[in-house]
Amino acid sequence: MAEYPFPDPVVETSGAVEIASDLVVVPNQDVDLVPNIGVIGGTHSVLVVDTGLGPRNAAQVLAFAAEYAKGRRLYLTTTHFHPEHAFGAQVFAGEATYLVNRAQADDLAQKGAGYLAMFTQLGEPVARELAGTQLPTPDVVFDDGYELDLGGRTVRLRPTGRAHSRGDQVVTVPDAGVLFTGDLAEAGQFAIFPWFPPHDTDVSGLRWIRVMERLAAEPHRVVVPGHGGIGDARLLAEVRDYLSELREQTWRRRDSAMSEETVVEEVRALMVERHPEWRMREWIERGVGCLCAEHEELAAHEARTEQDAEHAADA
Ligand SMILES: [Zn+2]
Repeated sequence: MAEYPFPDPVVETSGAVEIASDLVVVPNQDVDLVPNIGVIGGTHSVLVVDTGLGPRNAAQVLAFAAEYAKGRRLYLTTTHFHPEHAFGAQVFAGEATYLVNRAQADDLAQKGAGYLAMFTQLGEPVARELAGTQLPTPDVVFDDGYELDLGGRTVRLRPTGRAHSRGDQVVTVPDAGVLFTGDLAEAGQFAIFPWFPPHDTDVSGLRWIRVMERLAAEPHRVVVPGHGGIGDARLLAEVRDYLSELREQTWRRRDSAMSEETVVEEVRALMVERHPEWRMREWIERGVGCLCAEHEELAAHEARTEQDAEHAADA
């Protein structure tokens, strides 16, 4: 099995911080494969956002949430289906009501097993946390969005449409001005592009840019990214700008018929220069790969449209 040269992917609930009234975050403390986890309270119910990687982490999160809830009803939602965000939901069965959007439920059902196999190969500490994982079945699946009443506080679960994954969903707590983004935004690291052709090509740089444009235009006070430190609305603008520049720099080079290999090399160097302090530089080239494919798709579409126009002119 692969060497795993990082800290063990273990959620530390002792690090929980209150970021608003009756709203705590268990921060990931920059540990890879540990997400930021939210616990949001109302008068009669408590919502947990994301589970941590595998059943052992999720059991810690559930224990923490149950203690925090003090008898209030528990709900769970996940920002997307990726293993460190959702592959612990089984532990909540019977203890909490698990709600997700339809695209995410489809991701779990169609891609969950493949991701479980892929992540198990990442190294022994990851395999250990994933041992005993059963892919969860959500209790409630919704289409357009869900307003969850926690008692004196309504939380909104909003699918954004395909971007980082097909079933991306943000969670907003309007009365506190808090937004949970899942992996649509990360702090202190390059945007995660799960671009693994031919197995997984759902990530879309173009759609992701549009989602970030929308989110950055909204009035959020506190932004909890999928990984990395808690920030404010500037984090959304920062991710939007990074993705836009990645697209622009990639497409400009592809327009001049530069090879993908050279594009990757040049754009990687440029982005590292722009953001020398950001971690996980390996995601840059996956992002470039995704945007090269989208560039090609667009060019093919434009060629078809042009042909159609010529046919129409001939007719
Ligand atoms: Zn993810």
